[in-house]
Amino acid sequence: MILKTCSCCGQEKPFTEYYKHHNACKMCHRASVRDYHDRNREKINEERRANKHIERRRKRKQRERKLLLRTNIESVQRQIRAMSGDNHNRLLEAARRFENRKLERSPWFKPDWFLKAQGKAA
Ligand SMILES: [Zn+2]
Repeated sequence: MILKTCSCCGQEKPFTEYYKHHNACKMCHRASVRDYHDRNREKINEERRANKHIERRRKRKQRERKLLLRTNIESVQRQIRAMSGDNHNRLLEAARRFENRKLERSPWFKPDWFLKAQGKAA
């Protein structure tokens, strides 16, 4: 396995332990982000307060991403249904798109219903 030396802790770690284009390993990177937040908590909070609408959108995106990262579309749909509000249809559509994209990219997992929807069923 090819190892890369972390510019921060100096340990040799495999490439999977690094974010793309980063010279510090994931652990060090996370630590530095956390450290930055700790040192600049006031500034960050102030900025967030000043940009309430942006912050709201960020939180919503975060929630949606979390939801969409689930592998099981059924459970995603159940959760979306359980959520109230006008986001319902938009989220459902996004989940469907996400699942389709995932299946398109997957070389080995193509369920029948997916192929049928694509018009590729035998
Ligand atoms: Zn490191």
